[in-house]
Amino acid sequence: MKDKTALIFGITGQDGAYMSKLLLDKNYIVHGVCRKKNYKNFKKLNLIKKVNFHLFSKTNKQKIIQLLNKNFDEIYFLGGQSSVIESFDKEVETYESQIEPLKIILDFITFQKNKKTKLLYAASCEMYGSVNKKRKIKEESKKKPNSPYGLSKLIGYEIIKSYRSMYKLPICSAILFNHESLLRTEKFVFKKIISNLDKIKKGKIKKFEMGNIEVKRDWGWAPDYMNACYKILNSKKIDDYIVATGKTTSLKNLISLCFKYFNLNWRKYISIDKKNFRNFENKENYADIQKIKKNINWKPKYYYIDVMKKLINKNIL
Ligand code: NDP
Repeated sequence: MKDKTALIFGITGQDGAYMSKLLLDKNYIVHGVCRKKNYKNFKKLNLIKKVNFHLFSKTNKQKIIQLLNKNFDEIYFLGGQSSVIESFDKEVETYESQIEPLKIILDFITFQKNKKTKLLYAASCEMYGSVNKKRKIKEESKKKPNSPYGLSKLIGYEIIKSYRSMYKLPICSAILFNHESLLRTEKFVFKKIISNLDKIKKGKIKKFEMGNIEVKRDWGWAPDYMNACYKILNSKKIDDYIVATGKTTSLKNLISLCFKYFNLNWRKYISIDKKNFRNFENKENYADIQKIKKNINWKPKYYYIDVMKKLINKNIL
């Protein structure tokens, strides 16, 4: 039987690298689009020579179509400007990098003769805005994004929905909640805490600053979530699904647990500075993962406490 082929947009990122590993382990031929030769995640996962990289801008229509003509079995769209904070300064770049390539791919699939290519788009919990415990987020919950990033994800999500219903395509969104790993950069808060804690232990710094630590999030493990994405696209019920752990905690609790792991009291090492508070930041979110559990038979292997231990112990998988 012919090996399956997959194309990943955003392949050099955290999720792109883990998705490559998962697919290669299943004997897929993996191709990926990237803007520059930034292969550090592939070196960390020991995959550097196993993937076919295609270097060009994700908005280069001609190059994208040339590549799509290979008629991939599966496409994972995990690319685009992915920082909520940076999306305020990079508004146009955020919309362009999320939406333009997605539209090119969808138009290609729509007019593909046999319409066989499946597509999964990485949407985000940021589409919903701040939602309290009483109203856990379900797929169809009211969307109220608070940032250009959240809005760009909502546009992508709605485009997927309308193409699926208009043209009966095998396409979907995975609505991803925060997920972490050693491949994350320090601009994301969980990794920032662990890295600074490491520096404190090595005597490199005495203290570090944080913003609002009362925010509450559902944090999961990146490889776990890529497994969910794969299962969704390979199920008989291709549809939009929330991918989360279903357990929310505060940043404050997370910090306290990280420091307690080394018998340290976080209050001695962290100063809170209100200049780091962000007006637009969602205060809290809670996920309802019943749909993916029921239809896809997926549930998380790791919760925030496991993620914390993996990051502290430098477990890449
Ligand atoms: P990363 O930021 O690690 O990777 C995204 C990739 O997209 C980068 O490697 C980069 O690849 C490409 N990219 C970044 N900026 C741009 C840009 N301006 N224009 C075009 N391409 C760009 O993100 P993750 O792997 O963590 O996330 C994967 C997807 O899932 C993203 O779409 C993200 O928004 C979404 N998501 C992630 C969550 C998380 O907690 N990780 C939560 C919810 C959604 P290159 O430079 O090679 O082109």
